This record gives sequence, structure tokens and C-alpha cells, in this order.
Amino acid sequence: MPKPMSPIWHPFTQHALQHEMTKVVRADGAYLYTADGCRIVDAISSWWVVTHGHCHPHIVRAIQDQASKLNQVVFAGHTHDPAEEVAALLLKLAPQGLDYVFFSDSGSTSVEVALKMALGYWHNIGEQRIRIIVMQHSYHGDTVGAMSVGARGVFNASYGPLLFDVRSIPFPTKDREQATLDALESACRNEIPAAFIVEPLISGVGGMLMYPAWVLREMKRICEASDVLFIADEVMTGWGRTGTLFACEQANVTPDIVCYSKGITGGALPLAVTLCRADIFDAHYSKDRTRTFFHSSSYTANPVACAAAKANLDLWQDPEVRQRVASVAIMQEQAIEPFRADARFRNVRRLGTIAALDLITSDAGYLAEIAPKLQAFFRERNLLLRPLGNTIYVMPPYCVTAADLDEIYAGIREAAGVLA
Ligand code: PLP
Repeated sequence: MPKPMSPIWHPFTQHALQHEMTKVVRADGAYLYTADGCRIVDAISSWWVVTHGHCHPHIVRAIQDQASKLNQVVFAGHTHDPAEEVAALLLKLAPQGLDYVFFSDSGSTSVEVALKMALGYWHNIGEQRIRIIVMQHSYHGDTVGAMSVGARGVFNASYGPLLFDVRSIPFPTKDREQATLDALESACRNEIPAAFIVEPLISGVGGMLMYPAWVLREMKRICEASDVLFIADEVMTGWGRTGTLFACEQANVTPDIVCYSKGITGGALPLAVTLCRADIFDAHYSKDRTRTFFHSSSYTANPVACAAAKANLDLWQDPEVRQRVASVAIMQEQAIEPFRADARFRNVRRLGTIAALDLITSDAGYLAEIAPKLQAFFRERNLLLRPLGNTIYVMPPYCVTAADLDEIYAGIREAAGVLA
């Protein structure tokens, strides 16, 4: 078998099946430009991070300015304006009732931080609570804690023995929502868990599975009644994807702990935050140094990444951004509507700016044979789409045009004709 030409080991890439990587030299708005002169429509916002478009000038300028002033400083015992500004703005924009902001650098680490905050809280107030409740099909990242609270399957089978035990409740499929709520109620009552972690309104990697806001609201109510911490993982749903700035807004829910990452810098640089209620911070606030929150990474609150986040937050102050999100949602609905009558697809769905549909094939799941074929087919048509098994989804940057969407959905229709 030929070995790769490059020494780079790529993520979620089977090198024995994919020998060549697409070399990208430049990006602008909704497009990637390759070394061999192609313009690719980025229909998945480069793994769901790019919100306003690649290389947004306001964000680029903020990065350039900050990089020449202060580009890194240890964050233990030190602070800087970009981090302070981002924290203050976040607390204004996030659901009311969150009081503290902890910085980290990826969605997975923001989840690790959330879990450690929850466990640290119970430990420090003297209660033995360690069990985490999770939802079926969930995904929270690839570090060991984040994998433990995610669905068990092909992504983590090799590390199974290392993952900690969790209690899983069923996904709230249509007309079976009560079963989920009953399972949550029973898990909260019987196991005295530390926390429940959930992707609000949509499970992304699990297959773009959507559920209504009232279920999220009920889940929060159940946790509150049992004094179980409610952790919302808004790593994917944050920053307008579901139609509102944060998905929890639609359920009028304030989580006890919430994770934001991906679009926090508009997709320009890696950064994440975990926000929490004051009493979770307070449980760690003590002259006793053993109660310190022992978590950090070297680049915590990197000033350049924070400057990018501040620039992104500036953009969100402009009402035009929300109008843009609303119009992408409408454009997506118009584009996906004809597929509801197309017998080759099922579960045609949309939430805010995210649209998804399942191609009917003989196998399903992440390893469905069709997925790499679809991906290659789209690549040949200069479309960046990475189906999750037989689930094709479109999650574009908000600068996407109706013409781009026409191109994307024409590609999907053509793929069904050729490959299904
Ligand atoms: N949580 C959710 C809901 C996600 O969708 C993801 C990534 O897709 C993560 C956490 C992990 O984020 P990252 O890849 O930045 O570690």
C-alpha cells in the first residue's frame, strides 16, 4: 500500500483510502481557493467554525493589531484587555444568570472544563456526586472526558476501557419525547448525579438530529428540581447556527454551565470558553489552596485569539448580522423544501441555518459506504461537504449567497442520481 507523501497525520482521515489532501492556499467569504486554481464553496463552514465568512476584514484587522502588541502571556495571575472585554461582552450576550468565564482553546477542552467544574463543585461543597447523565447520540469532543460523555461507537471503541461510566437517556425522537423526560427524571432521582450534559436542540455529529425547544426547557426543569447541574454544550449550536445567537435562548433556559467555541472567533483562531453560575465559582473560592480550579492549557486566553473573539462580538452588536442569519435560514428552507417530495431522501429537516437530509441507502451510520463516495463526488464539483454517513448536511457561513446554495443543492441532487 502506498504511504502518504507528507509526514502529516490528518484528523478523521483514513490515509490508506485518501492519498491526496486538497491544498488550500487562500480563503475569502464562503470560498476556499486551492493550489491548483479551484474555488470551492465551503458548505460546512470548515467544520462549523466560520460564521461571518473566511478572512472577515474586521476580524483580520483585530488579529493583526493585537499580534504586534501582545501575542501571548501566561494567564495564571495575569490578565489583558482582550480577555476582559470578551468576558464582559459574553456575560451580556449569554443567557442571564451566568457569572464567570473560564477560557480554554477548543470545544473538547471547554467540555472537559465544564465536567471538572461540575465535579469540583460537588466535591468542594462536600457531596459525593460523580455520575454524569448524557443523551443518546451525543458528541462532545475527542479528549478522554469528552469521549466518555459522548455516544460509544466507532469514534472511541479503541479507548472504551479508559472511558468513565455514564448514564445515557434516549434521544427525544418525534412523539417519543416523554420517554426521554421520564428517563431523565428517573436518572436524576435514582443516581444523585453530578450533572447532565446536552447539545441543545440539535445533536450535530450524531447525525444532525433535531428536537424541539420545549423538550430542552423540560430537561432543564427536571435537572433543577433534582439539583442536578445542567451543562449545555453550545460548541456547535452557538453563534447563530440555530437561528438565535445561542440555542438555549429558544427554550428560555439558562444553563448552570455552558460551553462555547467554534464560532467564538468567527472561525479565525482556536478559542473556547466555559461560563458558569456564581455558586460554582464560589465553591472553589477559598483561602484553602486545595480548592483551586486546577485546569489550564499553555495558551489559555491567548490575546490574539481573544482579540479575534472581541472582533466577532463587535460584529454581533450589528443588527444586520442577525438579519443575515434570518435570511440564510429562509434561503436554506427554500433550497431544501423540494427534497421533501424526493423519494430518494428522508428526514428532510432544518433548524435555523442548518439543513440536513438522509439519502436512502442500504447502510447507515458514520461508516456507511456511501459517505466517502459522496464526499469525493462533491469535491469533484468544488463543493466542501462531509456527510455524516448517509446524512448530508449544509451549514454554510452567513455570507453564503442564494447562487452558492443553488450550486450546493444541485450537487446533492446530482449525487443522489448517480450514487444512490
Ligand atoms: N461539542 C460539540 C457539540 C461539537 O460538535 C464538537 C465538535 O464538533 C465538540 C464539542 C468538540 O469541539 P473541538 O473539535 O473544537 O474540540
